[in-house]
Amino acid sequence: RASHASLVDFGRRHVTKGIGRQVEAVIEKGEGSYLTLGDGRKMLDFTCGIAVTNLGHCHPKVSAAAAEQCLKLVHGQCSIGFHEPYLQLIERLLPMMPHPSLDSFYFISSGSEAVEAAIKIARGVTGKQNIITMQGAYHGRTYGAMAVTKSKTGYSESFHPLMPGVFTAPFPFWHHFSLPPNTPTSELTSLCLNQLELLLQQQTAPKDTAAIIIEPVIGEGGYVPAPPEFLQGLREICDRENILLIIDEVQSGFLRTGKNFAVEYSGVKPDIMLVAKGLANGFPLSGVITRSELSDKLKPGSMGGTYAGNAVACAAAVATADAFKEENILENVNARSKELFAHLEPLRSTPAVLDIRGQGLMVAVEFASPTGTSPHDPLRNPNVPAKLSTRIAKRCQEKGMFILTTSAYEVVRFIPALNITAEDLKKGCDIFVESVEEIVK
Ligand code: PMP
Repeated sequence: RASHASLVDFGRRHVTKGIGRQVEAVIEKGEGSYLTLGDGRKMLDFTCGIAVTNLGHCHPKVSAAAAEQCLKLVHGQCSIGFHEPYLQLIERLLPMMPHPSLDSFYFISSGSEAVEAAIKIARGVTGKQNIITMQGAYHGRTYGAMAVTKSKTGYSESFHPLMPGVFTAPFPFWHHFSLPPNTPTSELTSLCLNQLELLLQQQTAPKDTAAIIIEPVIGEGGYVPAPPEFLQGLREICDRENILLIIDEVQSGFLRTGKNFAVEYSGVKPDIMLVAKGLANGFPLSGVITRSELSDKLKPGSMGGTYAGNAVACAAAVATADAFKEENILENVNARSKELFAHLEPLRSTPAVLDIRGQGLMVAVEFASPTGTSPHDPLRNPNVPAKLSTRIAKRCQEKGMFILTTSAYEVVRFIPALNITAEDLKKGCDIFVESVEEIVK
């Protein structure tokens, strides 16, 4: 068997340079909140593979359900016929929906594909073309998804031209207006709703605008929950102007924020809701969920795909949904969330800490820029070699924990497994606080 060092060397040579990595190591095994690396290190995982393994790595019931399905039917092509796991999954998801009108399901494989499909559906059923996205949004890496991604130019740099017909509205985040972190959300919300009204008057007329797409918690763009009044305002504008509201719950969905879906904090009804990541706890599966009245307008054959709604991934998702209930995951999220904020609270007195925010177990700590530019504008000097947040994450890694930053600003994000124990949560927070103290001084 090849040595770990030679495997890493092989990977470095042959895996595309287009992929960035946190660690030059092979991940050999995942169990609950821990990953074991080929060099023998056991790492506490506060990333969940970017908010995917919500029930921890290799949850026994999810893995067993997938293994069982593997021996029964791996590929039940959705354009040939129905398969049982697909239908069972719909049955499990229906009662979880933020609104009962969401009753038509299209399963595919990745979040980006779900975004692409939502854009097609919005254009197809409204007969309109333009899409409004939010400043700071992340929706994926394929061409349509990349066009509505506004969190970092790094995702689209050198890859233009993007899909046309995309307009960007400001999202209520103090950075976007160079305001201080304690700016009331009501002030930010009215600024943004006014700007959106102007956008509809000055740039994309309602009669040309098919949809507004938004993450209920801006994810890669800095971990910022949308104020409920903002989502409610969007809903009103969409209703008034006959525009569809697409809610992207790819990262925030499935109990992550302390509700089944983050949009529930606002009570807003999505026209189209997108899910992926936590849906199947690590198996590639995403979903586009609408009301039948919309999807009934689609021509048979206009949607589909070779692997759309793979049977093994659907079986894993059914077991995931069952485990959410059987293992009282929502209770754990809310209990651990309180502890997480309590562990982080002492950091508020650290001058370098600008903000601690989030919902459930989707939480961010933001730092002031170390570049000496305005603390409200840390992006002013994007070429500074190692961002402070990256150095903190690196230090955490040296101490045995994986944790992620976000694309924009100096943000470290906390997305541990939703069933993490109080002990592991404290252990991770201790590592983080120590790392901050050592790096920020
Ligand atoms: N939407 C959101 C909100 C996301 O966070 C992501 C992934 N980080 C995507 C879409 C794209 O999902 P995928 O990487 O599965 O294509």
